[in-house]
Amino acid sequence: MTPLGPGLLVVVSGPSGAGKDTLIAAVRAEHPHLRYSVSTTTREPRPGERDGEHYRFVDRTAFEHARAGGAFLETREYNGNWYGTPRDALELALGAGDDIVMKPEVNGALAVKRAYPDAVLIFLVPERLSDLRERLLARRTETNEEVAERLEIAHREMRFIREFDYLVVNPQGRSAEAARDLAAILRAERLRIHRIGDGVIERVTHA
Ligand code: 5GP
Repeated sequence: MTPLGPGLLVVVSGPSGAGKDTLIAAVRAEHPHLRYSVSTTTREPRPGERDGEHYRFVDRTAFEHARAGGAFLETREYNGNWYGTPRDALELALGAGDDIVMKPEVNGALAVKRAYPDAVLIFLVPERLSDLRERLLARRTETNEEVAERLEIAHREMRFIREFDYLVVNPQGRSAEAARDLAAILRAERLRIHRIGDGVIERVTHA
């Protein structure tokens, strides 16, 4: 489909273990033009994670240096590691009219909304908060202590739901439903009048 107007900035947030990565991967498989904003982190790569694709993995000194140089739109310490949204790549992509998706934690999402009020903020949750624990344990990438900390953070993050634009539920084993919801949100957001280019409006208003 021809783009109707300027690119969308889609922010998928919500607690760790809600399934943000799986959801984004599913939607990007269907909508290959949706670009992913690769964050920078000081966390160690998990097995299978590739530098420049899942994250840009850097040490703390490099992160500090980049932050001091104004490289990030927002940064956040999460569970002992730093995460940041690179500013340049985002500005370039949006400037070129590309649709772009990112997955910061909740505070990062709200910071992005302050910088880009037109961003579409999606809060992703499991059906039950107790599913988070199971998912985090099942992926076996964190120690029990880290899982407990992530759950603690999740409880705090839930308080911010009302500051988001959309709530998407990701039911256990039925993530295709969440992917459909997200695709519907993207479709509807693209049709909002304020995003539609003047050229299209002129075309449809002239006899
Ligand atoms: P993980 O270590 O599981 O990849 O990420 C931990 C948390 O940091 C997740 O909630 C993830 O969404 C969030 N996160 C990833 N990148 C960024 C970022 O650039 N900024 C912020 N604020 N959070 C991020």
